[in-house]
Amino acid sequence: MRRIFFVVFLFQTMTVVAEELPYDTVQVGIVQNVLSMHVSCAGGGYVYELAEGTQAGLPAGDDILVKLLDDGRIAFGDISYRSPVRIAAAGNDDLIRINGKRFHDTINIMAQNGHLTAVNELRLEDYLCGILPVEADPNWAPESLKVQAVASRTYVLRNMRRHEKDGFDVCDTMHCQVYGGVDCEDVRSNNAVAGTRNEVLMYQGQLAQTLFHASCGGCTENPNNVWSWDAEAPPYLRGRRDKYCRNSPHQDWKNLVKEDIMRKNLTKAGYVIGTIQSIKIEGTDSSGRAKKLKIKHKNGVLEMKAASFRLAVDPWIIRSTMFKKIVKKDAGFLFSGYGWGHGVGMCQWGAKVMAERGKDYKEILKYYYPGTTIEKREP
Ligand SMILES: [Zn+2]
Ligand SMILES: [Zn+2]
Repeated sequence: MRRIFFVVFLFQTMTVVAEELPYDTVQVGIVQNVLSMHVSCAGGGYVYELAEGTQAGLPAGDDILVKLLDDGRIAFGDISYRSPVRIAAAGNDDLIRINGKRFHDTINIMAQNGHLTAVNELRLEDYLCGILPVEADPNWAPESLKVQAVASRTYVLRNMRRHEKDGFDVCDTMHCQVYGGVDCEDVRSNNAVAGTRNEVLMYQGQLAQTLFHASCGGCTENPNNVWSWDAEAPPYLRGRRDKYCRNSPHQDWKNLVKEDIMRKNLTKAGYVIGTIQSIKIEGTDSSGRAKKLKIKHKNGVLEMKAASFRLAVDPWIIRSTMFKKIVKKDAGFLFSGYGWGHGVGMCQWGAKVMAERGKDYKEILKYYYPGTTIEKREP
């Protein structure tokens, strides 16, 4: 009897909390550093001046050019408002369009450093629907989409304050996670978000660092070998062999990089060098990835972390640092290697294959982040 009372009491307490904060929200920077943008809403809506607390109408249908004025006010056609403003659709099922793309919930537009910023403020679960089809192919096995949903949800919650100085939580590019808004949604990835609602990956009472990459090439990587982390990587992120991604289309790659392009990109990243004469791999770590590269050039020798070299030159062309060979050619250097991405955490291609072989998303998450637990978060 007493136990039932306790449960009821606990349940009521939780209900009260849930009423105060019924869901997590996220602020996504969708437009930055512009002087104007296009805004429209099929059924019309509202413009709120947040500082003044005033409300005006947003006309239905019309494409409105929103501009930053010299005095810092924001003009919607002929009418101007004090920054910042919030715009919302009047109808529940209607959506605001920014530069032709549709977004859930509300948009905040503000003047910052002489430019306009637009921020989509929406429910976390809706945000995930707008990133999942970009991060994982909706054609993939449903359990692998659920893996991605839990990893992406945990990732955004852990990195929530990343763009605090810019006036939002996360950006819409690869720097955080690529977000395409409503137009990129797919019913299959929406189902994966709904099927894992509020589920996150935890380690020792904290959100896990759910890093992921396209394909590991046969062994995942310890982040300490990739980035200059202050602390030692948690046990669930240390590299391990992966037997599932062997047949990934990214397993073998080969790309030629022209010498002048490589030099230009390195210079842009702060490594000022002369014409490159040779590139030598200086040691490999336990995952088989190159530790350092020794670059002999006209004006001397540059030694740098292989992972930094890859990011500086072009991570789309130099797909990983698990090199087979680097060969000098007339036009430049021919790089060949295994896998695609930094190699840390979950291997997306491996997760896809595990799902095809009947593993459920919980097993897959445990395989790539050993020692973590899946918990249902109370927003
Ligand atoms: Zn970002
Ligand atoms: Zn893999």
